[in-house]
Amino acid sequence: MNQAVVIGAGIGGIAASIRLAVQGYAVTVLEANATFGGKMTQFTLNGYRFDKGPSLFTMPHLVDELFTLAGRNPQDYFRYQRLDIITQYFFADGTRLTAYREPEKFAREVEQKFKIPKEKVTAYLAKSARMYDATADTFLHKSLHQLSTYFSADVLKTIPVLPELGLTTTMHAANAKQFKDKRLVQLLDRFATYNGSDPYQAPATLNLIPHLEHNLGAFYPEGGIYAIAQSLVKLATELGVVFRYHEKVEEILIQSNQVIGVRTAQQAIVPAEVVVSNMDVVPTYRKLLPQLKAPEKTLQQPRSSSALIFYWGINREFPELHLHNIFFSKDYKKEFEHIFQHKTISPDPTVYVNITSKFSPEDAPEASENWFVMVNVPHNSGQNWVDLVEVTRETVIRKLSQALHTDLNAYITCEQAWDPVGIEADTSSFAGALYGSSSNNRLAAFLRHPNFSSKVKGLFFCGGSVHPGGGIPLSLLSAKIVSSLVPQPGT
Ligand code: FAD
Repeated sequence: MNQAVVIGAGIGGIAASIRLAVQGYAVTVLEANATFGGKMTQFTLNGYRFDKGPSLFTMPHLVDELFTLAGRNPQDYFRYQRLDIITQYFFADGTRLTAYREPEKFAREVEQKFKIPKEKVTAYLAKSARMYDATADTFLHKSLHQLSTYFSADVLKTIPVLPELGLTTTMHAANAKQFKDKRLVQLLDRFATYNGSDPYQAPATLNLIPHLEHNLGAFYPEGGIYAIAQSLVKLATELGVVFRYHEKVEEILIQSNQVIGVRTAQQAIVPAEVVVSNMDVVPTYRKLLPQLKAPEKTLQQPRSSSALIFYWGINREFPELHLHNIFFSKDYKKEFEHIFQHKTISPDPTVYVNITSKFSPEDAPEASENWFVMVNVPHNSGQNWVDLVEVTRETVIRKLSQALHTDLNAYITCEQAWDPVGIEADTSSFAGALYGSSSNNRLAAFLRHPNFSSKVKGLFFCGGSVHPGGGIPLSLLSAKIVSSLVPQPGT
């Protein structure tokens, strides 16, 4: 049987292992950590359970597809529900706005709160859908580094929509042109952070992201986000995939330009005709492929933003909060200047609070809530994180206390924090960036590393640091592209 090795059990690596097993490979996943998940992991603290990394789940069909591919019923492994309320927004001027599931109802809420005709909002979301539909097949579902992609009928779909794609303007400029109300513009600009970018630099093409949340929906997996990784590892194991933990890969072995296996820190040699690296592409080249000339232009693309997260056990309930809550900064432009130009944390950051105990009461003790409190921060470039974390903690507590008319300090019973240094140490994500390279450049899609090596046969790449990009859905799609590129076993 042909052997494949996957380096890393992040969501992209797990998905790749399933696809390769279905194709007929004998697959071994080597994971440096004690367990699977990578950024998508969980922990418990004093009776509270926390999803440590991702919290927003869109495009669940990409998970279902893996079960169907393996001839299983997805519902036997993994269940989720569509959210009726996507996000509760709190603006600096005291306005509260609820993003409802139905685009019409959301538009009515915007009309009521911001005095913007609801037709303008539904038209915006319809345009977002058109942009997505015209581009997804070419830019997300296929390799951008194969000529065949450009000679397919899918490319033709993008042509009529080209003027709408906003390649020559920024997200913010396009949103500000569309809407006069600064609060709505801020709400729409925030979607740039879904791949760690800056709305004041990123191309307006990223305005297709609201379509995913507002038209296709936001979802909550039963048991929390970690259930995605758990259910997929269960499936992979049933398909014969072998997961080996505490097995850090130190070298990808190459002979005559063909991959022949990997060497682990324990000096074990694991032979393979196909190696898929789910490790961040920068350390893959720097650490595992020292003999290969690295694609410097690609590796030196600016990184996406990172995050600072406080996980708080709160011994009280806040009925005014939902699963996803956003407390906006007053000056969004300044906030992004702090992150991307000054490489520091804004003194008035936008704060995201995620509370899974709203849906999974077992995640917190009785009458308590598990708060995941996140601010966007720059990737690590040697800042004094100890000081930044301390100052930001105070700022965040002050800001939330003010918005919720309470003294939050009184309710925090236990806590933990994760900063860019910790994210890099725990997942090998270069500089602690959440989404690989940023999308601040309009050519970013073409500058991301391809899903294969053009120099070494049998070497492939998946996960959030390579094409088509970061986040759960795109990491899953990267695995799908890899499976379309690997040779059929036996050939
Ligand atoms: P990773 O999760 O990066 O895992 C890589 C794995 O490789 C790790 O397990 C690592 O230990 C292993 N590894 C590395 N080097 C080696 C080696 N040498 N040998 C063996 N194993 C190795 N996405 C969303 O869609 N929605 C969100 O709401 C969201 N929020 C986020 C919030 C935070 C705080 C973070 C950190 C991320 C968030 N993301 C979100 C992004 C999302 O988590 C990632 O894009 C996705 O999980 C990346 O998966 P991956 O396949 O690239 O693998």
